[in-house]
Amino acid sequence: MVYLSYNKSPPACFRKPHFPFWDIQIFMNNEWHDSCCGRRIPVYNPATGELLCEVEEGDKEDIDKAVKCARQAFQLGSPWRRMDASERGRLLCKLADLVERDRQILATLEAIDSGKLFLVAYFVDLVGTIKTLRYYGGWADKIQGKTIPVDGEYFTFTRHEPIGVCGQIIPWNFPLLMFAWKIAPALCCGNTVIIKPAEQTPLTALHMASLIKEAGFPPGVVNIVPGYGPTAGHAIAQHMDIDKVAFTGSTDVGKIIKKAAGNSNLKRVTLELGGKNPNIVFADSDLEHAVEQAHHGLFFNQGQCCLAGSRVFVEEPIYDDFVLKSVERAKKRVLGNPLVPGVDQGPQIDKKHFDKILELIESGRREGAKLECGGGAWGQKGFFIQPTVFSDVTDDMRIAKEEIFGPVQQIMKFSSIEEVIRRANNTHYGLAAGVFTNDINKALTISAALQAGTVWVNCYNAMSSQCPFGGFKMSGNGREMGEYGLQEYTEIKTVTIKIPQKNS
Ligand code: NAP
Ligand code: MG
Repeated sequence: MVYLSYNKSPPACFRKPHFPFWDIQIFMNNEWHDSCCGRRIPVYNPATGELLCEVEEGDKEDIDKAVKCARQAFQLGSPWRRMDASERGRLLCKLADLVERDRQILATLEAIDSGKLFLVAYFVDLVGTIKTLRYYGGWADKIQGKTIPVDGEYFTFTRHEPIGVCGQIIPWNFPLLMFAWKIAPALCCGNTVIIKPAEQTPLTALHMASLIKEAGFPPGVVNIVPGYGPTAGHAIAQHMDIDKVAFTGSTDVGKIIKKAAGNSNLKRVTLELGGKNPNIVFADSDLEHAVEQAHHGLFFNQGQCCLAGSRVFVEEPIYDDFVLKSVERAKKRVLGNPLVPGVDQGPQIDKKHFDKILELIESGRREGAKLECGGGAWGQKGFFIQPTVFSDVTDDMRIAKEEIFGPVQQIMKFSSIEEVIRRANNTHYGLAAGVFTNDINKALTISAALQAGTVWVNCYNAMSSQCPFGGFKMSGNGREMGEYGLQEYTEIKTVTIKIPQKNS
């Protein structure tokens, strides 16, 4: 395998910034605060295991304070409620400009905090973040109700109003991008926000705090509370004065969030959860292209993607060739320091996740899958895992059923379209799917038959701010992004006025 030496020193422009450089406190009312409990969260660099800094740890009391700030900012007559919709849009676009200005800082922070490749952070996460902010900046003054021709002497119209105070809880795999996906549609519609970044990756969110203030958002509109899930996260989900919770993360925690919402004030819930996504390759597809796309569809971001195409179904006639080429491709991956250009794969997020992936690899071996390459840890420090490919995987194996969220590709064989549709859908998840074929009829049949929120044909991971995103079945509730995402952040009000006489 080709691996760049981990110890190779990164170019000067990629070296870590000085840590007093940004704020590591809780952000409320456009000010920085120490936590009520006096504790701090240690933040590590997963490429080295070294402590980067400590961040104030928000708990229930801090969430309560943040909710008060957000509620105050949402009061009738507040600067935020009185602001023109076009001005909300301008603020989001201003924030996008500031993110663009600080693109290198944010990409560096993201890389050292999450182990993501700097160049991926710079060209994927940062671009996605900027585009998301601009996309929803553009929508702010285009959210319209309807006039409705009701029966009787009445005039009826609808208003699409903000829901109120929105709690938002995000994971560590795309910390900044998920931050933007959450705050942009919420602010576009006029809500106020309390957002909890993942405990492993709070740094870009805290840099965003200073940009939100600089952009000119009124105090209390966005409040950022780093903290742990079972404490700060749970306080959001069960809060009686939060009107809506939006969560991205695991299906298990999604269930807890929904239960907490039900047990408290029945707040509205949007969930973006896990996936065990099928990627189906027919014998008539362009083999080289399908191998390459399936490779990136799984290994992108160290395999830590809810969208990862982790069940690759390959049609019998090309199965052996596909496996051979996929293994060659995986062996070419370059592991190493995520700040160094030329590296393809950084570390997994933390030791706990690293151990979980290795345990699942072990289960694949034990249950009889053929380990084609990889299978173990890599390097002397940090949480790196060798690119791993399994063939002869059957549907009953744990590696075919459970979300691995790591650089582990499962390749399975199929022989008919009916069979592959049945097997692809045989999961509790339903987030995304891919199909590779040059036959338009097969592509259309598969697209209609698969239970998945997104289906890609002859491509994978083709995401954009304009498209709705979300899952069928246990992959989630609701849709984020695109125009559909606005529905998750508005309440519809019907206003009916008695009139003396109507005229058609
Ligand atoms: P996770 O454990 O579900 O955590 C996600 C977030 O929820 C974190 O901020 C976490 O806090 C918080 N949390 C944990 N327990 C909580 C509780 N009891 N109440 C409220 N909040 C709680 O997931 P993860 O390990 O960070 O991320 C990986 C998972 O996310 C994968 O399963 C992946 O598929 C999924 N994911 C889905 C999407 C999607 O859009 N569908 C996108 C990305 C990731 P801590 O900081 O304490 O962990
Ligand atoms: Mg970290």
